[in-house]
Amino acid sequence: MTQASIEKTVPAAIPENVTRPRKVERLVTGQETSDGAGVRLTRVLTQPLQRRLDPFLMLDAFGSDRPDDYIGGFPDHPHRGFETVTYMIAGRMRHRDSVGNEGLLQTGGVQWMNAGRGIIHSELPEQDSGLMEGFQLWLNLPARDKMGEPWYRDIQGESIPAYTNADNVHARVIAGTSNGVAGAMQREGTQPLYLDVHFATGGQFVQAIAPGHNAFVYVYRGELSIGADMVPVKRMAIFANDPQADGVVLRGAAGARAILIAGQPLGEPIAQYGPFVMNTQEEIYQTIEEFRNGRFATATK
Ligand code: FE
Repeated sequence: MTQASIEKTVPAAIPENVTRPRKVERLVTGQETSDGAGVRLTRVLTQPLQRRLDPFLMLDAFGSDRPDDYIGGFPDHPHRGFETVTYMIAGRMRHRDSVGNEGLLQTGGVQWMNAGRGIIHSELPEQDSGLMEGFQLWLNLPARDKMGEPWYRDIQGESIPAYTNADNVHARVIAGTSNGVAGAMQREGTQPLYLDVHFATGGQFVQAIAPGHNAFVYVYRGELSIGADMVPVKRMAIFANDPQADGVVLRGAAGARAILIAGQPLGEPIAQYGPFVMNTQEEIYQTIEEFRNGRFATATK
């Protein structure tokens, strides 16, 4: 399937004007790790960066054509207090949860799940060969929404708005708004922007970002230059929060691809224990107790 055939391409984009682009504050190399039932992945956004990149809690990049690296998938496990956003660049993954939802996440698609007060789910590959590649981003919930009803949305590739700018740079707008194009998801509290940007022939991509929002880019093909800085493949660049800056300008070599993510920080305390993210240690103890007593699954059925 070609990229074009899985997309909803919108005709007009309103070019954004960025006159004071943000600089790169630092580059981050992810940590090789494994999670679930032995899935090999790179944890790009790790726990020590949660404050800096508030409201984002984690970013995992996975990509392998060796079935041993992904075949185990992520069997039943719980979540509470945040949202998981899974974006498939290539591959097929089946999702099932304790609320009774089931969905198939396929090439180009996104699953956006709000764990709210508690969900138990599995994410299992529906392929035993070939390439499986994608990202999972964890987006925090404001304190007032952490104990809300869980929900999820499967967004098929063809329903993700996309456009091509004057430099032949192609952008898929998963969340937020880019150059006048509204994305597939809008979230009120954290206002996430999530773009997948393809530099087909090389060129420039411009995106307005509010100065207070935290922003980063992860390069998964080729390389980018941002101001005077080069960002090689498999690196995350964290953008400085210059109060005078009005956005970002990315220059990509031909074939470069990157995800660009930004959001409004919550500025609330973060207490994490594995798949539970609350505001206080006490809420974490309570969560663990409720999960152990089986109140999690029943609470969501
Ligand atoms: Fe999960």
